[in-house]
Amino acid sequence: MSEIQSEIQSEKQADPAVPTTPAVRFADFGLSPDILRALSDQGYVHPTPIQAEAIPVVLQGRDVMGAAQTGTGKTAGFSLPIIQLLLAHANNSASPARHPVRALILTPTRELADQVAENVKAYCRHTPLRSTVVFGGVDIAPQTAALRSGIEIVIATPGRLLDHVQQKTLNLSQTQILVMDEADRMLDMGFLPDLQRIINLLPKERQNLMFSATFSGEIKKLASTFLRNPVTIEVARSNATADNVTQTMYHVNEQAKAEAVSYIIRERNLKQVIVFSNTKIGASKLARHLENEGVKASAIHGDKTQNERMAALEAFKQGEIEVLVATDVAARGLDIAELPCVINFDLPYNAEDYVHRIGRTGRAGASGDAISLYADKDERLLVDIEKMIKHKFVRAELTGFVAKPSSGERERSGRGAEGRSDRGSDRSGGDRGGEGRGAPSGRSLQHTRSAYTSTPTSPSRREKIDPWFLKPYEPALEPEAAASNVAPTGGAIKPPKVKLAALLGGLPKRQ
Ligand code: AMP
Repeated sequence: MSEIQSEIQSEKQADPAVPTTPAVRFADFGLSPDILRALSDQGYVHPTPIQAEAIPVVLQGRDVMGAAQTGTGKTAGFSLPIIQLLLAHANNSASPARHPVRALILTPTRELADQVAENVKAYCRHTPLRSTVVFGGVDIAPQTAALRSGIEIVIATPGRLLDHVQQKTLNLSQTQILVMDEADRMLDMGFLPDLQRIINLLPKERQNLMFSATFSGEIKKLASTFLRNPVTIEVARSNATADNVTQTMYHVNEQAKAEAVSYIIRERNLKQVIVFSNTKIGASKLARHLENEGVKASAIHGDKTQNERMAALEAFKQGEIEVLVATDVAARGLDIAELPCVINFDLPYNAEDYVHRIGRTGRAGASGDAISLYADKDERLLVDIEKMIKHKFVRAELTGFVAKPSSGERERSGRGAEGRSDRGSDRSGGDRGGEGRGAPSGRSLQHTRSAYTSTPTSPSRREKIDPWFLKPYEPALEPEAAASNVAPTGGAIKPPKVKLAALLGGLPKRQ
């Protein structure tokens, strides 16, 4: 194939049309031909706006605070210049000592870590640089073997990374570049103490890149503590929803929501949709309901093993599953190109999650639909979302939808621990084995007749964090020990009051 033909081919493959900056080409950044070849393999010719802004800045060795929505191409925005910078050290030596960890990319979830790692691997493929991913919930041995062989770029979730440090399979003393991806979510999931420990293991002289979809006061505080004179890169308004997503809010009776979801899927003939549920049991029940209605559906949440989650995701990507019912934590970081629609079966307890959820659609510049169902009791959550995204919804009725008389199924569902949120209460959790480490669990909904909670509780903004997630770092158990370890119920541990400033106060001041 001629060069021109292959370029036309490449441009075609890139068709998912991430909004790119056509005036600029990757070749303009002075990236190595090996990287440009990898980009051409991917079909990328023009950078996206965040890539156009971030690549030159990172190449200069500057710290970056990036405000980027999902689907903006931020992964390549930080990976490409990192690879370019590390090429100075690239070598083909068989000695592990010649391949120390030089860049560390931290992500809140295993799925995101895996995705970032796939991208990094693709961009490095024509270079001698080595990369690997480490996250919990899977056998540590292959990760250990990979790390021992010498790896320049490590993509990791914080807990498992610390396990490797503890087991001395990982040394971070030569790490020149630190990336915190989805930093907002890392704080949300209670990773701050782990981040603190990891930062203390790194050389003081290093480059720091921090990316976050939303910029809360806490995030700004974290940024001000460890970023040095950062360049702020913002490609979309923070706390805003993607412009190319049509958002609809349907008022539906709580008991009729599952039926409403299948109605919407049938009516719109949806073939690839993620439906968000606030609880694990809710996700499983909804997936079952959809299957009974003839919709190919699968649930992904923290009670599923990593392999089950990966298999469901793969089947979804292949079109074998039409509907993925997911909790927020499980869905975080999923990159499914051109997802046409997301449905909020439950409105999220945390308005920021709404932004993340609808970011699943309209990715890569494509247009998308975000359909949300809300019941009377959800008005407060709805208003929270409206405040956050500064947009007032039209409260619509789902025309043509008539709910069947209640079978009582929902009345039996989701009671007590079963209906628990997918955050924080998962004792098998942590990025070592389950979900995130300290996600505040959703508040219990306050209402009178909903079948989803049996005891009305006072609606605090966020429920108390499960104390297990605030426990000091403990190294991973040996497999045998882990097998015999029965998770404690956690009632006795008092959650320490972890103050952000206090935790970060100990950070070494950089010169
Ligand atoms: P990210 O925000 O990094 O998850 O990227 C979102 C999607 O855009 C991913 O599917 C990438 O593969 C794709 N992508 C990233 N950069 C480009 C580019 N310059 N041109 C076309 N697609 C891209």
